[in-house]
Amino acid sequence: MEFNPCMKHKVVRGAAREFAEGELGPIAAEIDHQARFPWEAIEKMGALGYFGLQAPRRMGGAGLDSISYAITIEEIARVSAGVALCVTVHNSVCLYPLLNYGDKEQIARLAEDLITGRRIGAFCLTEANAGSDAGAVETTATAVEDGYLINGTKIFVTNGGVCGLAHIFAKTDPPDPRSAAVLMVEKERPGFSVGEIEDLSGMRANPVSSLFLEDCLVPRENMLGKPGQGLKIGLAALDVGRLGVAAQALGIAQAALEAGTRYAKERQQFNKPIASFQTIQNYLADMATQTDAARLLLYRACAQKDAGKPFATEASMAKLYCSAAAREVANLAVQIHGGCGYSREYDVERYYRDAKVTEIYEGTSEVQRMVIARGVLSRPS
Ligand SMILES: Cc1cc2nc3c(=O)[nH]c(=O)nc-3n(C[C@H](O)[C@H](O)[C@H](O)COP(=O)(O)OP(=O)(O)OC[C@H]3O[C@@H](n4cnc5c(N)ncnc54)[C@H](O)[C@@H]3O)c2cc1C
Repeated sequence: MEFNPCMKHKVVRGAAREFAEGELGPIAAEIDHQARFPWEAIEKMGALGYFGLQAPRRMGGAGLDSISYAITIEEIARVSAGVALCVTVHNSVCLYPLLNYGDKEQIARLAEDLITGRRIGAFCLTEANAGSDAGAVETTATAVEDGYLINGTKIFVTNGGVCGLAHIFAKTDPPDPRSAAVLMVEKERPGFSVGEIEDLSGMRANPVSSLFLEDCLVPRENMLGKPGQGLKIGLAALDVGRLGVAAQALGIAQAALEAGTRYAKERQQFNKPIASFQTIQNYLADMATQTDAARLLLYRACAQKDAGKPFATEASMAKLYCSAAAREVANLAVQIHGGCGYSREYDVERYYRDAKVTEIYEGTSEVQRMVIARGVLSRPS
């Protein structure tokens, strides 16, 4: 068992950190406060391969293994979790299912625009009556002569306001719950429109929105997989997506740990740095331990995937633990900052807001526990 990063992973971390600190660092607080999508940085990221992180090199992707992918997301999230959210959803729940379930024609037609970042990807499962219960989707895709006619409303779509291609989960044969299918919808199709951008508590740099589909006609060639395979494809994509969300959470925890440590050394009370007080040291000890444990769980899940082994249970464990750790580490970082921790002048309040949602999307912590328990119970005793 090897606990030290190999040269490849060091290089990946160094490159991602340099980019994140150089390009995203100066704007991270502003894009959060203004709830602004940073197109200028996103275009550079497209040119540098951030939108095809795990796509094969022969297709113009970066060809990263899963640990390198997690390191890259972690480093972006350490600086701007809102941007990391954009990159994660695009790579793991839009591009990944296309490359893994798409046929040759679909990949040839749609992958390049995603890999280069010319089209930003979205994954649209959630509806007003279908959240944790993914099988309750009410959007319909009715077979017609020249394709499928989609009708429905998707909510809380990450990248919704800027997406060029959206994977829409819809029922092809209602009310059969197994009839869900994934339809890939380009933004220019008539009947596809974007709702108001959500006024979110955290991840404010991401234009999360509703998407409306009103008699939106897509050709049969835009169905990913076969009718009835939608939930299977969605759940497989979410297994990979959870590695990305865990990496976002880890990046936030790391940033909060660093900020808390810095402030504890600088801030003087009772004529001493607050870092000299045992209670503050206990906070830092807990923050460092949780961040390290989160990292180990995440990299273990990634290593399982890279070895071609089942990794769904491990990915859910990583997502469950990393997200709780991020929330708690960010909470303690705010506490260490005292009143300043509650001010927008300091980054820690942003980390706290950003951390919380990692316990909610791509399966809440309650849903992760259901997945983990299923895995545990299915093991031979
Ligand atoms: C910023 C943001 C971005 C998002 N991006 C996307 C996206 O890109 N695509 C997308 O499809 N969705 C997205 N979502 C939606 C997100 O995935 C859902 O909010 C999440 O899955 C929970 O669904 P819900 O909000 O309907 O909560 P509900 O399912 O109504 O759950 C409410 C509460 O009940 C609990 N609960 C539900 N069922 C059970 C059960 N069986 N046992 C125990 N507890 C249960 C939940 O854990 C939760 O605590 C996003 C959400 C946010 C906030």
